[in-house]
Amino acid sequence: MINLYELTRPELDSLLASWQQPRFRAGQVWSWLYDKLAADFESMTDLPESLRRQLSDTCTLGVLHIAAERASSDGTAKRVYELPDGQLIESVLMPYDDDRRTACISTQAGCAMGCVFCATGQMGFARHLSAAEIVEQAIHFARQLHREGERLSNVVLMGMGEPFHNYEASLAAVRRLMADLASARGTSRSARLALCRRYADLPMKRCKSGWRSAYMPRPTTNARRCCRSTNATHWPNCSTHAARSSRRPAGA
Ligand code: SF4
Repeated sequence: MINLYELTRPELDSLLASWQQPRFRAGQVWSWLYDKLAADFESMTDLPESLRRQLSDTCTLGVLHIAAERASSDGTAKRVYELPDGQLIESVLMPYDDDRRTACISTQAGCAMGCVFCATGQMGFARHLSAAEIVEQAIHFARQLHREGERLSNVVLMGMGEPFHNYEASLAAVRRLMADLASARGTSRSARLALCRRYADLPMKRCKSGWRSAYMPRPTTNARRCCRSTNATHWPNCSTHAARSSRRPAGA
């Protein structure tokens, strides 16, 4: 089965062209994916029934299965998703009084960083998520809010995992969220996904020894705690982090 959220727009164009569909059909399907946020193929009512059937027989609208969900009295909703290989990841939707609706989504199943104050860090690392698996978490919340007459306003990559350890997929997901989800919903991309915008603009460069960047936060208490609790061997590609970890005080 083809996960439609894995496809870029040109890939969707090619898929539908290979089914001898007219060019405008790809635009219609794309709109159902990112603008109307369809949960099933049956609701794509401007597509011919034969195409809906073909989509339903050969494609999926994502791969995440909701395994558990809890809501708190302040409206915060926490979800556990099961991935096709059985891995579990978490996402949280946080409503704010000023009408912001922020999705906190995961970039990895587990995490290699091992921060001592974090439950995910104690689980260890299972695997990186694909860009589609990252994007789909935001799509689920956007779809739910759309049904309720609201909109997803912000996305932060602060769920399970360290996005810079899964840099390529995280960056691809951010670009997808900005280019497809935010623009399809008809508002300013930078306003809707402010934190992602900042993330995508960070000056990251590959160099001989790994990633060179200015990504480490100012040395706040939490950041210092994170560095001290992290074994540099968990972060083999990050020279900045390795250097900092090697300077950690004895016994910290
Ligand atoms: S990097 Fe984030 S998710 Fe990973 S162990 Fe540290 S606090 Fe937890």
